[in-house]
Amino acid sequence: MIVIDLKCSQDHYFEGWFAGLEVFYQQQKDGEIQCPICDDHQISRLLSPVAIRRHGEAPPQPVPEAKPEATLTKQWQELKNYLQTQFEEVGTDFAKEALKMHYGAAEKRNIKGSSTAQEEEVLQKEGVEFFKIPVLKEGN
Ligand SMILES: [Zn+2]
Repeated sequence: MIVIDLKCSQDHYFEGWFAGLEVFYQQQKDGEIQCPICDDHQISRLLSPVAIRRHGEAPPQPVPEAKPEATLTKQWQELKNYLQTQFEEVGTDFAKEALKMHYGAAEKRNIKGSSTAQEEEVLQKEGVEFFKIPVLKEGN
């Protein structure tokens, strides 16, 4: 069950309990949701609060809403397979190897490993393109 904050066209705020988000949208479409105060059927969902962040701060990561868990797990598995089969594990030598490849001292290839924040700064200054591997909770 999920709780959704709702509002009717008369600006009455109330909570609704639904088996899932799809159920809510279906019931909303069919006009089955009723305002407990005025019996109105024009129900809309209250949006999440938004905030303005100070300059220079990273924006918060968007939370994928109502995304089936299975899809996320599948994407994560695909990414993991890709990294496992297509990338060479260089561990903490990542920055060193990346710089060597950047200056042609080593053959260009896919590598993965770990780096410190300072190392990443050096790589960025040197113009080395790299990406962060998202650390996701593995499906249990
Ligand atoms: Zn109402």
